Amino acid sequence: MLRATNLTKEYPVRGGENVVQALAGVSLELGEGETLGIVGESGSGKSTLAKLLVRLEDPTSGTVELDGVDLTKLRGKALREQRQRIQMLFQDPYSSLNPRQRVGAILTEVLGVHRLAGDARGRARRVGELLELVGLDPRLAQRYPHELSGGQRQRVGIARALAVEPKVLLLDEPVSALDVSVRAEIMNLLDDLRRDLRLSYVFISHDVSMVRHISDRVAVLYLGRVVELGDWKSVLDQS
Ligand code: ADP
Ligand code: ADP
Repeated sequence: MLRATNLTKEYPVRGGENVVQALAGVSLELGEGETLGIVGESGSGKSTLAKLLVRLEDPTSGTVELDGVDLTKLRGKALREQRQRIQMLFQDPYSSLNPRQRVGAILTEVLGVHRLAGDARGRARRVGELLELVGLDPRLAQRYPHELSGGQRQRVGIARALAVEPKVLLLDEPVSALDVSVRAEIMNLLDDLRRDLRLSYVFISHDVSMVRHISDRVAVLYLGRVVELGDWKSVLDQS
């Protein structure tokens, strides 16, 4: 369903002719309902890969296809429609949740922008459903982000990603900023959601132990290249 072929990304180095090669020919495939783990140390290209997959940036060369449609060639409305199908969940949702909006308004806004869930009443109902889906009391819609715990905030982040009914979730260190005690809860929630909603995940982390629990296959990035790719047992036994 999601296929990256020969992705490269070069960033110019300021004040010179040189470039940094953040990705040097990465190819990956993700099937429906599957989880692909991406591990690698800092600087290996994980964030760059994530940005290319969700089409926040253009690759220098290579393609990203979603069900056979090349996202790198799309512009405007067609791009917005396809981009809706791949949502990104950030490490710290606090930085991406508007602190002046209540949780309900944050979710309502996403539904409104994407013209989902009908009229205002339909959207209000959908906000309640989304909060329940991620294990939150619908009454939390009245709260502001700073009135929530870290785990609750990440659940709101998940609800916001799910609001647009994506097929693929790109999880960039989704539990790294959380207390150890709530990490397992969020991991279990993600696992349940994947099964119930038939989602595919790209799970990015520098922490191999996080990735192995949830991934069917793991790709190891090193200096912008995939140096290992396989089921996590074969990959991790070698590293
Ligand atoms: P992480 O390793 O946690 O992903 P980084 O500190 O590498 O975070 O990067 C944070 C942000 O800064 C990213 O958006 C990345 O693209 C950008 N970035 C990283 N390195 C550079 C650089 N040399 N010049 C400009 N931006 C950079
Ligand atoms: P990771 O997420 O694994 O830490 P990144 O994708 O952030 O890796 O970075 C990969 C390489 O690309 C690093 O050398 C980083 O400094 C460089 N890089 C990332 N973003 C930028 C940018 N916007 N400008 C310049 N260099 C960048």
